[in-house]
Amino acid sequence: MDPASLPVTRLKGVGPRLAEKLARLGLATVQDVLFHLPLRYQDRTRLTPLGALRPGMETLVAGTIELADVAYRGRRSLVVRIADGTGHLHLRFFHFTAAQRDGLVRGRRLRCYGEVRFGPAGLEMAHPEYSLLREDEAPLPEQHLTPVYPATAGVGQTLLRRMVNDALEHYLRRVEEWLPESLLAELALPALQDALALVHRPPPGEDTDALLTGRHPAQQRLAFEELLAYYLSLKRVRERVRAERAPRIPASTRLVTKLLAGLSFQLTKAQQRVLGEIVHDLHEPHPMQRLVQGDVGSGKTVVAACAAAAAVEAGFQVAVMAPTELLAEQHGRNFAGWLAPLGIDVAALSGRIANSARAAALDAIASGRAAVVIGTHALFQEEVRFGHLGLVVVDEQHRFGVGQRLALRAKGERDGERPHQLIMSATPIPRTLAQSLYADLDVSVIDELPPGRQPVDTVAVPATRRAEVVARVRAACAAGRQAYWVCPLIEESEALDLETAVRTAETLKEALSEITIALVHGRVKPREKERVMTAFARGEIQLLVATTVIEVGVDVPNASLMIIENAERLGLSQLHQLRGRVGRGSAQSACVLLYQPPLSELARARLAALRETSDGFEIARRDLEMRGPGELLGTRQTGEAAFHIADIVRDRALLPRVQRAAERLLADHPDAVAAVIRRWMGGREEYGAV
Ligand code: ADP
Ligand code: MG
Repeated sequence: MDPASLPVTRLKGVGPRLAEKLARLGLATVQDVLFHLPLRYQDRTRLTPLGALRPGMETLVAGTIELADVAYRGRRSLVVRIADGTGHLHLRFFHFTAAQRDGLVRGRRLRCYGEVRFGPAGLEMAHPEYSLLREDEAPLPEQHLTPVYPATAGVGQTLLRRMVNDALEHYLRRVEEWLPESLLAELALPALQDALALVHRPPPGEDTDALLTGRHPAQQRLAFEELLAYYLSLKRVRERVRAERAPRIPASTRLVTKLLAGLSFQLTKAQQRVLGEIVHDLHEPHPMQRLVQGDVGSGKTVVAACAAAAAVEAGFQVAVMAPTELLAEQHGRNFAGWLAPLGIDVAALSGRIANSARAAALDAIASGRAAVVIGTHALFQEEVRFGHLGLVVVDEQHRFGVGQRLALRAKGERDGERPHQLIMSATPIPRTLAQSLYADLDVSVIDELPPGRQPVDTVAVPATRRAEVVARVRAACAAGRQAYWVCPLIEESEALDLETAVRTAETLKEALSEITIALVHGRVKPREKERVMTAFARGEIQLLVATTVIEVGVDVPNASLMIIENAERLGLSQLHQLRGRVGRGSAQSACVLLYQPPLSELARARLAALRETSDGFEIARRDLEMRGPGELLGTRQTGEAAFHIADIVRDRALLPRVQRAAERLLADHPDAVAAVIRRWMGGREEYGAV
């Protein structure tokens, strides 16, 4: 029988009680166990000489005990010092038995495995796994890498390794191969069964470095299939959406024309093209699922406002969802500025408005009087009901996952019709990556900035030259311009960061007494935040000291100077977003990256990249090279694209091939499609895996 239909209880030693615990790891069937892949490996095939140890290393060492002692400083602990002729290391045990203590005596040889860290007396390992060696015993215990599996309470590594062994021994040969042989040959990838056997039990002599970095062909084979499953599942979501009905919204003849006529600028060619694509989608009888990518400042908001005007003209409501209160408020101001003169009623639904005002707002939304409703995800709470929702605009999409996208559409359902969805992404990513990660969406790109924008002059300045930077702020404000001073969230503790921001604001107030300075951060009350931002937007505040709350979307064209503290600690895309807050007006703008010397290699590369280019797509490309996509795409929190073995950055060269393989499977092997999705996406319903 297919291991996909055998319950885990078929494995040796697995009863109903254990099965319950395994369910928490998503392990229901024997196939799930076979596809429970190692997170990483421990390398017990090589010894590190004690003299070569560095903090943070996790490694195998061996040595002779020089000293063993019970220390009472702080907590009682057994401390053992070992040496091997190249250096020494302390082993520290907080819990130990008398027998353990008696075994660890001067002169005995032992090997141990653990993580190296700084201790009170130099490098140490706390609670290493260890074993005493006989006189003539060689210290190398393993000939192959040791897999480390995702584990949970009551389901540890030993148990998992035993289960996997049993599954491999008895059921591996029954795992079905869904990829056509010709495809595997073309891609030079091994067969599935061989790949599974190898990643669980890497035989001695395999390329250890490749395995440790996930580049071994066996891992690539599995990553390929996982990416394929993800891609196919999104394609299926897309097909499902295509089969749904949506209200047809004709191209606006009146309101959009009026909106455009009232603007002080003309849409760029790119904006017009993307608006055209949206208008076309809105007129289809199926829900639009369109992602608009555009660099910071490319003018995504006004495009969304035009789409909103078209929907309203056709008699539908529009919901605009922003990721933060701050942005919701700004959109509220912008949309009202554009739409109110056309006679369109724009309402705000903040998560924190007073109850009476809230009841009135809810009523206006339910009756359809509020034509455009702007808010945070509070918009999609249970008690919010729309009269006739035709379009949902989601700004700064990267914080929402597939599941949330689907839930949003279901929310606005009426008479079997679901609203159109327009998703605006603040973080541009390369097209091939977008097409793979968001395969359930159509992608539009605004690849042009409004004319007259001068690139932001970017400089990196060491914190030792802070006084010059303060003088620069003074000069800019004296010339009638405004500035941001960003104190990013960098420490673990939010409280500490707020303190830094508060202290910076105070110091600046003293140094720049002639300038109006205000502070915003995450803990400032929403009402106060709005007051400050409005005052800043009106030019009544000249210098805004802020944490990264202003990172995305904030738009004040008169602000032309951006100071970023501790720039060396921020990621490239984040710095680019922050820098994008300036250079929005016609004045020459500047961004000062204040850093704490000395710079690490990576930080130096980041700051250099930022100085060299202002193209968001290029920045994203370099960011991908330098670090993981989780941070870039903001998916760590939402769990979107959380892969077992694939790594979208490391494996991105596979993506075009994944797409081609998917087309082939859909056309020639439809039975394989469902099986591959089920195998990898398990019960993740939102991906269509049921
Ligand atoms: P983003 O794409 O980063 O969300 P915004 O929508 O906030 O950018 O637009 C940035 C600024 O550019 C806003 O002040 C907006 O009014 C302005 N803008 C948008 N389109 C144009 C255009 N075609 N010409 C000039 N200015 C524009
Ligand atoms: Mg924006």
